[in-house]
Amino acid sequence: MNPQNLLSTLSHVSDDTEFYTPMPPGYKPGKTKYVGVFGTVMSGLGKGIFASSLAKVLKDKGLTVAPIKLEGYLNLDSGTLNPYRHGEVFVLDDGMECDMDLGTYERMLDQDMARANFSTSGQIFSTVLEKERRGGYLGRDVQMIPHVTGEVKSKLRHLAVQSDADVIFIEIGGTVGDVENAYYIEALRQLAFEEGPGGVCFVALTYVLQPPALGEQKSKAAQLGIKQLLECGIQPHIIACRAILPVTSKVREKIAMYSSVPFERVFSMHDSESIYVVPEMVRSAGLDQAVVEILGLQDRVHPELEEKNRTVWAEYLASLRTSRESVRIGIAGKYTSVRDSYASVIKALEHSGTRCGVKVDIDWIDVTELKEGDVVSRLAPLHGIIVPAGFGARGGEGKIASIRYARTTGLPYLGICLGFQMAVIEYARNVCGISEGNSTEFDPETREPIISILPEQKQIEGLGGNMRLGGQDVMLTPGSLASRLYNGALEVRLRFRHRYEVDPRYIPQLEASGLVFSGRAPHFPIMQVLELPTSVHPYFIGTQAHPELTSRPLRPDPFFLGLVRAAMTVAGVGGPGKMPTVGQSVWSPAGGAGASS
Ligand code: GLN
Repeated sequence: MNPQNLLSTLSHVSDDTEFYTPMPPGYKPGKTKYVGVFGTVMSGLGKGIFASSLAKVLKDKGLTVAPIKLEGYLNLDSGTLNPYRHGEVFVLDDGMECDMDLGTYERMLDQDMARANFSTSGQIFSTVLEKERRGGYLGRDVQMIPHVTGEVKSKLRHLAVQSDADVIFIEIGGTVGDVENAYYIEALRQLAFEEGPGGVCFVALTYVLQPPALGEQKSKAAQLGIKQLLECGIQPHIIACRAILPVTSKVREKIAMYSSVPFERVFSMHDSESIYVVPEMVRSAGLDQAVVEILGLQDRVHPELEEKNRTVWAEYLASLRTSRESVRIGIAGKYTSVRDSYASVIKALEHSGTRCGVKVDIDWIDVTELKEGDVVSRLAPLHGIIVPAGFGARGGEGKIASIRYARTTGLPYLGICLGFQMAVIEYARNVCGISEGNSTEFDPETREPIISILPEQKQIEGLGGNMRLGGQDVMLTPGSLASRLYNGALEVRLRFRHRYEVDPRYIPQLEASGLVFSGRAPHFPIMQVLELPTSVHPYFIGTQAHPELTSRPLRPDPFFLGLVRAAMTVAGVGGPGKMPTVGQSVWSPAGGAGASS
């Protein structure tokens, strides 16, 4: 039976069939192909980096791609996850709070993700339970197979319809063998059967050990990992071996033999100096070509476009590799021991540094440890400083002291979200003389709630008392530093994740004392950007938004670009010819929204 006929039989959901494969309206069998990426042996293989790199290489060929991350955990989203344990919460334009891997996809593909690109077991199960209450299972006992797996397939096919993509990249979270993701793997097995040959390509990522005491690569753990996948009924088409060093032919032969995968489809994906090297590693190994052949996509490929995109990326890599002078930028935060909690900030600095031809050395400043008396000696060696996003009062005074130092000494400053709010408090206390100025987040009883929750504004926006999340338009004041950073744009779109904001009652006093609010929400007095005039301070700016989330390798975020440029002036590195000036910003509106583009 050809896939088309098989699918029409399966999609007939009734109480007298064992099948449950709801087919979204408009689904075109064979139009969208699927690549499933599994991790074996251990977690932390860089599945997201690998999958996004492979997706990028296919996109470079002119194919449209849409990734989806399938998380095993039961939370509905990543909003409640502790960044200490799970890394930063990445917020999408549509307000979805998700795993930081979605940030990797956005950066690698230069493509906005949406809700449909992220799934958790919590989402799948709540769909199933809601449907059960509505009588959606026609009197059947609801089971993991076919109902829960049916919802997973339905989600994948919905993404196919919504994105109209040539290829959906499915990254299964966790490691094969985990209880949490077993039903996702089963759903993919069924999907491959239903779509028929050439519809789904399975890639198993594995790890080749090299114990120092032995000094040679050992393939057994990788073999056992693949065997576990075979036990789930998944025969991988491609095996990608992670390892410290290039995987030897001998080891690849062994893995090929034990897993029934042709030798030429067992690839070495060893460690590289930067994640941005991985797409080229995928391409030069021919892994992309193998996927194109397995899925029969040859006719949809545009070689000239690929060549053009490859050159652009090669130039980016070349600038990444050039040896460069460095600037030292401090990040004054609370979770400094866990770098993943600032993953996007680190990336945004890297993008700007590469654009400006300078290396950015990050100096982690733990504000919970920063004593008043140590501020000068600790911050004096810096060329710029960031106070990043955060929640809760801990470390607050260390942040205020750092901002005061930056403001009064001309040290370039960028405040992000909480760093914006703290800059307002610092200004209120130390310039406006509102000595008790505070945020109700830190002191609910404060007599001077410069930063607080404003229910009336939240109601106007229809958000209740919840977090303000996702992309919002920001109006910039003509001629302001913020607007100049964005090439003179007067309206830009930024991403938000906050509950508190500047109380408008204090704005006249703050402005009268010299603080400039240069970015506002279009219809409400919600302050989104602050700055000091450049005649007063070379670079003092803050935003209620999270500009780090929308920085991309080839389109660095302007706030970060401005900071790095200002830091170069302080450090005296990079001639004026090298440094893009304000107005020469590389910013351009984001490349497409939603699951599709
Ligand atoms: N805690 C602050 C708020 O909720 C800032 C949030 C953040 O930095 N993301 O408004």
